[in-house]
Amino acid sequence: MAEPPSALDAGDAPRSVTILGATGSVGQSTIDLVAAAPERFPVVALTAQSNVALLARDARRLGAEVAVIGDPARYQDLKAALFGSGIAAAAGPDALTEAAARPSDWVMSAIVGAAGLRPTMAAVDRGALVAFANKECLVSAGPLMMDRVRRSGAVLLPVDSEHNAVFQVFDDRQRSSIERIILTASGGPFRQSSIDEMAKATAAQAVDHPTWSMGAKISVDSATMMNKGLEVIEAAYLFDMTDDRISVVIHPQSIIHSLVEYTDGSMLAQLGSPDMRVPIGHVLGWPRRLTTAARRLDFEDVLSLEFEPPDLDRFPALAACRQALRSGESLPTTLNAANEVAVAAFLEGRLGFLDIVRVVNEVCGTMPVASLESLDHVYELDRAAREEAGRCVEQASSCTG
Ligand code: NAD
Ligand code: MG
Repeated sequence: MAEPPSALDAGDAPRSVTILGATGSVGQSTIDLVAAAPERFPVVALTAQSNVALLARDARRLGAEVAVIGDPARYQDLKAALFGSGIAAAAGPDALTEAAARPSDWVMSAIVGAAGLRPTMAAVDRGALVAFANKECLVSAGPLMMDRVRRSGAVLLPVDSEHNAVFQVFDDRQRSSIERIILTASGGPFRQSSIDEMAKATAAQAVDHPTWSMGAKISVDSATMMNKGLEVIEAAYLFDMTDDRISVVIHPQSIIHSLVEYTDGSMLAQLGSPDMRVPIGHVLGWPRRLTTAARRLDFEDVLSLEFEPPDLDRFPALAACRQALRSGESLPTTLNAANEVAVAAFLEGRLGFLDIVRVVNEVCGTMPVASLESLDHVYELDRAAREEAGRCVEQASSCTG
């Protein structure tokens, strides 16, 4: 991972920020931290897909230069909500990308899904510090994105709590002494459920995460453990490690956020309460440390740390992701797109919980595997996989045989 360029270690100099996906769970935690130090973190752009009221409120509160709504039908509402503030309003997918391309020191990539790919690439291409939460866009276009990061001089700062933990203890100067990365997983709401119970799981049960409060899509991914599989792929690209050197262990308390094992048998871990303001604060201040209000671990309380191996039979998503990572560049793109469609269908009550991974496996088995040539190729693969997944969802019974 990147060493901090010396110019970045400029004390507490202001750092201008843009937040993509500002109304979401990660976006709002980021805004919490930024709002606590407004002189240090002047806001350039905030974006959201549909929540005009929250976007406009935060843009006014933080004095943003521009606010962008992804849904073009809401442009007039946004303009009205910003009337008299001097904040520019814009709408539509291209405007999201323009917001990311606008000069700012630091960009939070916290749109959910591959929809964040173009805006995140725009921030990467202009060599920004990119706080990276939107794992789907890395899963979808990992090799291309990492190549553009190297060329532009952008710095990807991992926000996902596990990858941020690894980032904090991964000594890149001693890369040859690193044996493996160990990603921890809470196990999600169905850690102890039977297959029969999982078959009947409702959206409300699936989004009820035991330790983290997150957006609906990632909560469902945590319940299927697709999230951990996506994180294995994310770690492989971010830290340039092969899948056999990335382990997953269930740790229900979500206190140890991940570990790096070295050749001398030492394991270095990062610990903290399950609060996204810790990893977000880490990358917002990087390479310096901020002071945050995140809850501290209190060793006066009884604190037990448990570990167990993941049950690969009940959570086949983990194997699907490892298989995709090993078998070719385009399979993660396909897998991610199929999963987005299947999760959306599950949340709308059109697909059973266990069918999510079945649809993903069906689509991955049908689509051709190819090397990723360009971003347009990624969009084309993504579109084709979504179409196929849509068909599979409609015929869930024949698809799941
Ligand atoms: P969320 O659903 O709470 O928020 C998503 C944000 O993206 C919202 O601001 C929404 O308006 C915007 N958005 C949605 N669809 C869009 C589209 N088509 N175009 C443009 N913008 C769109 O999601 P979240 O939980 O904040 O997660 C965001 C990303 O961060 C995801 O990739 C997730 O995997 C990752 N992440 C989240 C957490 C967490 O604690 N929530 C932890 C680690 C990683
Ligand atoms: Mg995570």
